[in-house]
Amino acid sequence: MSFQNPVFIPGPTNMPEAIRQACYMPTIDHRSPTFGKILHPCLDGIRQVLKSADAKIFIFPSTGTGGWETALSNTLSKGDKVLAARNGMFSHRWIDMCQRHGLDVQIVETPWGEGIPTGRYAEILKADTNHDIKAVLATHNETATGVKSDIAAVRKALDAAGHPAMLYVDGVSSIASMDFRFDEWGVDIAITGSQKGFMLPAGLAIIGFSSKAIAATAHSDLPTTFFDIGDMQKGYDANAFPYTPPVGLMNGLKLSLDMLLDEGLETVFARHHRIAEGVRAAVSAWGLKLCAASPDLYSDTVSAICTPEGFNATDIVTLAAEKYDVAFGVGLGDVAGKVFRIGHLGSLTDVMMLSGLATAEMCMVDLGLDVKLGSGVAAAQDYYRNNPAVAQ
Ligand SMILES: *Cc1c(COP(=O)(O)O)cnc(C)c1O
Repeated sequence: MSFQNPVFIPGPTNMPEAIRQACYMPTIDHRSPTFGKILHPCLDGIRQVLKSADAKIFIFPSTGTGGWETALSNTLSKGDKVLAARNGMFSHRWIDMCQRHGLDVQIVETPWGEGIPTGRYAEILKADTNHDIKAVLATHNETATGVKSDIAAVRKALDAAGHPAMLYVDGVSSIASMDFRFDEWGVDIAITGSQKGFMLPAGLAIIGFSSKAIAATAHSDLPTTFFDIGDMQKGYDANAFPYTPPVGLMNGLKLSLDMLLDEGLETVFARHHRIAEGVRAAVSAWGLKLCAASPDLYSDTVSAICTPEGFNATDIVTLAAEKYDVAFGVGLGDVAGKVFRIGHLGSLTDVMMLSGLATAEMCMVDLGLDVKLGSGVAAAQDYYRNNPAVAQ
């Protein structure tokens, strides 16, 4: 392992050197105005990334999974009904967490490769005239299948039914890489983590709450201790956490937010889209198909690529690691062995991406797949030449 090559897994993502340096800092008093100078810019920056005027932002020493738990345990009660679609490994794991918390999940089973069936959500919400459903869960970007769902359409389904349920969105692999509109989409809780679009190590759960979600904490009966947002807010008011904050990671987050906002969110999203389009051009030149069922579902942060029947897609990932020291993502759950994943989010350029595509090609040829060396790379090169990052 030389650590020289970028990774092409859908998180943790590559870290810019400056962010690494920012994480590596001397000890400070974590209950002090000095800590406040790290904390408050982080909260403000995240609010901007979420495109929200006044969401309450919370940062926990955890990961995206802890963000899910923060959402559920602060706002819901045992036996509460929630609506969720299962269309991949991440939506599945969030549903599993709901069940372990004693919630009553109405699961809409959805083929892996499809997005949230918003038409089905609309019917279910309309039929729920008692308003038993307290929260609607939505995985914005299903990282297992490379499928992006339409959150505005989920909001529309709620509004069309005149339904008061709250909308909780897992944006772990979309926020800070793909457009996310907390206020416009009427999101009540948004969840993300540090190790994907924010280009940091794992270790932070990042969550936004609407005023409605904050109000719901008053009558939730699920126990909260570590993830209690009331305790956390009290901490913030005194430039502290209720316990010891991960100061270095948060210092890194402050820089990450500066970098994202300096580049400009729309530019960041356009960069991810361009890089992803190059990957998709390569996949099509290889004669392979994405797991995502149609172009409107294509994710700009991760592509899950189907390999031919009878071929174990995981072999590509294993060979890339062993022979070329390059990391791709394996298929998870129902699509294990059927897809391999190329992560294309975070700190990445066209040139880095071309090296990943070239490596994937070498592996596929090594393993006897009917792919021509250079075919995918050439297709991506063509796309990048004609759609340059820097205006000419
Ligand atoms: C990575 C990911 C998670 C889980 O996050 P952890 O940080 O591993 O706990 C949840 N949801 C989605 C969509 C993800 O991509």
